[in-house]
Amino acid sequence: MPSETTDPSLTSFVNGASDSPFPIQHLPYGVFRPSAGDAPRVGVAIGDQVLDLAVLEEAGLFTDDILEDNRPFSEPALNRFMGLGREAWTAARKRISHLLREDTATLRDDPSLRDRAFHAQADVTMELPARIGDYTDFYSSKEHATNIGTMFRGPENALKPNWTHLPVGYHGRASSIILDGTDVRRPCGQLKPDEDAPPVYGPSRLLDFELEMGFFVGPGNPLGEPIPVKDALDHIFGMVLVNDWSARDIQKWEYVPLGPFLGKSFATTISPWVVTMDALEPFRTEGPEQDPEPLPYLQSEGKRAYDIELRVGIQSEGMSAPHTVCKSNFKYLYWNVCQQLAHHSVNGCNMRPGDLLASGTISGPTKDSYGSMLELSWRGTEPVPLENGEERSFIEDGDRVVLSGACRGEGYVVGFGEAGGRLLPAQPRYPVS
Ligand code: MN
Repeated sequence: MPSETTDPSLTSFVNGASDSPFPIQHLPYGVFRPSAGDAPRVGVAIGDQVLDLAVLEEAGLFTDDILEDNRPFSEPALNRFMGLGREAWTAARKRISHLLREDTATLRDDPSLRDRAFHAQADVTMELPARIGDYTDFYSSKEHATNIGTMFRGPENALKPNWTHLPVGYHGRASSIILDGTDVRRPCGQLKPDEDAPPVYGPSRLLDFELEMGFFVGPGNPLGEPIPVKDALDHIFGMVLVNDWSARDIQKWEYVPLGPFLGKSFATTISPWVVTMDALEPFRTEGPEQDPEPLPYLQSEGKRAYDIELRVGIQSEGMSAPHTVCKSNFKYLYWNVCQQLAHHSVNGCNMRPGDLLASGTISGPTKDSYGSMLELSWRGTEPVPLENGEERSFIEDGDRVVLSGACRGEGYVVGFGEAGGRLLPAQPRYPVS
């Protein structure tokens, strides 16, 4: 059942919105500067425009108490709005949807207000949507975990005994989360390319992407008080695309026994528009069957997966557009977002507004749906052809890697935009051995 704001028959007075990745049914939030000297503020994408919510806030157009009292949209990040919770999210979404409708005159017929409140997306500078205090990365795709396990331990021992009982994860690094369009420097570090020789210092030779999605935490929980799985969705604000760039050779040598570290923390790219769970509601679907049955604290009711089509493209320096190397879907994930949040807090760990929890690499059942070069090229043994005749086992200097995503609704699309970035050559600071 479509809600008041996801009704496919809704139309906006903003030209071209219906046929764009940002129709009135979508309304994702982001943080932007209208021009270089302006302070960052919160906006919503509609068609090829950004609606400036700080201007609407200033004009007194948000009249619900929770929005009037807190003025979350003049902030340089979404944290305050995220922390206000569902009451504020619902009030804002209904109000914005109403103001953008074809049959609402408030903005449509006020040229002066329209002029101040709308900016072309092409003209604004996007910023990170939130101050991300903590970043966690899960490992929730059974296909991905099975592929990696098979490569390194053989098919008999592919999944570790804990994998089907809990969403495995690790604490990532929040400081190196970067926005779509930011270049990434190939990292240097300690590697052990020769099994029988000592380790060396130098640039990573096995640079990879990981196709992931992440969700932003809304209201947090006090230290010591777990978030029950049945309440988890009230603590989840929305989702973005995530490229968890990975240096496989650094990772392979460093990860025993404490898990990923410098092979991951040099960069993580996210998309700028946060897609709300309200906009995703029509795309809820069944996830994979879970066997064995999870413990009670991980048992989530109803449809908890989301049908989100995902792609990864690689554009080498000689190419004019990205070549798709992977098509996957968020619905393949074994562990859902509610289970991830319930598990993360079951020990009493406190979550805070703006924390980012990523899914882990989202691989599907078929070879063209694998979410990393490690899997697509099967550890480099089967290089992936690009359309200009080049081939790739891993990412090469100058390559741009672009993640994109979309939900296809009844007559409209919910676009996630892109999480892209170009790989720059390494800059070693010590002699390379
Ligand atoms: Mn990852």
